[in-house]
Amino acid sequence: MTAFRPRVLTGDRPTGPLHLGHYFGSLQNRVRLQAEGAELFVVIADYQVLTDRDVADRLGDHVRELVLDYLAVGIDPARSVIFTHSAVPALNQLLLPFLSLVSTAELQRNPTVKDEIAHSRQAQVSGLMLTYPVHQAADILFCKAHLVPVGQDQLPHLEATRTIARRFNARYASGTSPFFPEPEALLSAMPQLLGTDGGKMSKSRGNAIALGASEDETARLIRSARTDVERRIGYDPERRPEVSSLLTLAALCLGRDPHSVAEELGDGGASALKTLVTEAVNEHLRPIRERRAELAQDPGHLREVLARGNARADEVARRTLAEVLEVMGMRY
Ligand code: ATP
Ligand code: MG
Repeated sequence: MTAFRPRVLTGDRPTGPLHLGHYFGSLQNRVRLQAEGAELFVVIADYQVLTDRDVADRLGDHVRELVLDYLAVGIDPARSVIFTHSAVPALNQLLLPFLSLVSTAELQRNPTVKDEIAHSRQAQVSGLMLTYPVHQAADILFCKAHLVPVGQDQLPHLEATRTIARRFNARYASGTSPFFPEPEALLSAMPQLLGTDGGKMSKSRGNAIALGASEDETARLIRSARTDVERRIGYDPERRPEVSSLLTLAALCLGRDPHSVAEELGDGGASALKTLVTEAVNEHLRPIRERRAELAQDPGHLREVLARGNARADEVARRTLAEVLEVMGMRY
């Protein structure tokens, strides 16, 4: 008997290089699950770039950067599948039956979508903005994933995916063991790292520290991060979110507790905190950055990794779509 191998799906939009929020919010969990034997699928969500802008520019560059980031942090293409939406038509076709399982009211009250509309570069909200959480359900369910390592902003989408899985199972595949498993979100110790402006660190909001940034750039960005006026450093995420996010960042890099880092800094103020965070981040990322620079020398390898991942995802998606069409009575 072969051992049960849980499936993990997660992904990122090719809107820029990955940042510290991705690393501590999701990438570390991906690499850990891979090491524990899970089958890891990573989607580069190229169609979803168009949710909040009219033109998806420099897509090729951004896709290459993402593959580089993945390999640099330890996602192993021999064991895991890295693919793009656009290369897997059968995955995208699942969007149609899934759309029929949600109401427009449910789509309109999604809090993450509301936040993204507030930051959108579009004059008008597109249909894709409202429906992309359903597309994400297709991302997760095409490979019948059990676990989804994500940041906090993804929780409403995960809930939507679970609802769609339950409704699909009840409507088309009741009686058998669940057709789609109900996937679980896996949050990290840093479900929402704040950016230099105090809002969620995001590739598209100009407030991020990229994994591949230089040490000097990292220092400059951390120096510019918003804090508060209290001289004494203390860990209090409710009252002092910016200072607490920086403390958590240092603590994660150093393998320590944020309270003890705060205690050590005492009355040192924001500038001592920022010096400590900069050193901790640069130290922690040094081997990843070295590996990233080496991998960047071989673009042919990055293309091969993606081609292999696309082929494997396509095979899995075709099988799921065939099963879906079968239970929906659409095999003529
Ligand atoms: P964009 O601004 O283009 O939307 P993003 O930085 O929000 O980019 P996404 O590609 O939308 O990144 O998100 C990819 C994954 O990273 C998701 O699982 C998301 O929850 C997680 N993530 C993104 N930002 C953070 C953050 N600041 N802290 C923790 N996790 C995050
Ligand atoms: Mg985002």
